[in-house]
Amino acid sequence: MPTQTQYGLMSPEELAAEHDRQKANYAQLKTEKLTLDLTRGKPSPEQLDLSAGLLSLPGPDDFRAADGTDCRNYGGLTGIAEIRTIFGELLGIPASNLLAANNASLEVMHDNIVYSLFFGNADSERPWVAEPVRKFLCPAPGYDRHFAITESFGFEMLTIPMRHDGPDVHAIEELVATDPAIKGLWAVPTYSNPTGAVYSEEVVRALVSMPTAAPDFRLYWDNAYAVHPLVEEVAPAIDVLGLAAAAGHANRPLVFASTSKITFAGSGVSFFGASDANLKWYQQHSGKQSIGPDKLNQLRHARFFGDADGVRAHMAKHREILAPKFALVREILDDRLGASKVASWTEPKGGYFISLDVLDGTATRTVALAKEAGIALTPAGSAFPYGKDPDDRNIRLAPSFPSLDQLAKAMDGVATCVLVAAAEKLLN
Ligand code: PLP
Repeated sequence: MPTQTQYGLMSPEELAAEHDRQKANYAQLKTEKLTLDLTRGKPSPEQLDLSAGLLSLPGPDDFRAADGTDCRNYGGLTGIAEIRTIFGELLGIPASNLLAANNASLEVMHDNIVYSLFFGNADSERPWVAEPVRKFLCPAPGYDRHFAITESFGFEMLTIPMRHDGPDVHAIEELVATDPAIKGLWAVPTYSNPTGAVYSEEVVRALVSMPTAAPDFRLYWDNAYAVHPLVEEVAPAIDVLGLAAAAGHANRPLVFASTSKITFAGSGVSFFGASDANLKWYQQHSGKQSIGPDKLNQLRHARFFGDADGVRAHMAKHREILAPKFALVREILDDRLGASKVASWTEPKGGYFISLDVLDGTATRTVALAKEAGIALTPAGSAFPYGKDPDDRNIRLAPSFPSLDQLAKAMDGVATCVLVAAAEKLLN
């Protein structure tokens, strides 16, 4: 080992020797012929097994909701009351302001955008498509599928820096105050994808209170990880709808959530919470699209959980599986990259991701090296609007799916790739 371990302080000779050492590690890594994947923010099979009971629910004779609704038949655009009550408590939203929908919250977000484009929302002067320019605020690093929606509909996406307690509100306040083309903001307020940031109450208050030039500006409040802590204490649910109403902007937040990472990803229940006016507006359009959601799926979820405590207890089981994986990633990153000071990473208290920042200008190279060694990483830049990280430094790590053994191999390999790319960059 060189006496100096911090790359930035090494002499050119020390750095060249270090580069050789890491290249040798990399050559060794390639001989292992790995096929490992850290791209997918998916629950592992072991996590899915936790919900095995759902597969035999609600059972052959159980099809009536508490109000007598026959869940086998059409209708009930709001979703059944019992599942709305359970998730209303968890999300801090009155059940009367929460709809239960089909299997994907992303679809509900997409529909909200599409309805707004075609018809305008409850506060629009005209449909969004009639605006000469449409813009959307995108805190980054953020969720690539959010950005994909607004990109596909031709919104100009403005990148907002993400901090540990939410997006840079001062930057946001300045932009929205004067530009009526800015129609919305993507937000993942709890255990954000991918940094794990939890929005502070101060940030939330600022976002719901700030004056906006667009009367129909909306916060797309995707609380996908509201009940997904990796530690004992879950981050408290901030009453965004209540705070917005108190600030005189009741229609501003559109809250989304789902059980995708609670029960079965792709076969869960999604939720949409908003003001009375927004829900009326939404149902006016969703009622043309569908005669009602899958109520039997909602019923089996309600039976499976029983109440909000049932969800909390279930999430504690997920935590037991996930927390050791996140701890392992952190341990390997500390051990392999700590001294070099060429990378930093988030230490989330919940959610599904770790955000790794490598030496500026080396993320693409790191991902390419990993690929060549059989380790699939999310493409560099994917957590930024248009897939372009201006600093080429961010990599999203998804530790949930692989086994601990696979994860250890993959992360050790990633660390080697980070070091090879950094040494290369500093030598050139
Ligand atoms: N929102 C965020 C922030 C996510 O990370 C994900 C999945 O990774 C989703 C939404 C997808 O949710 P759903 O399965 O309900 O569409």
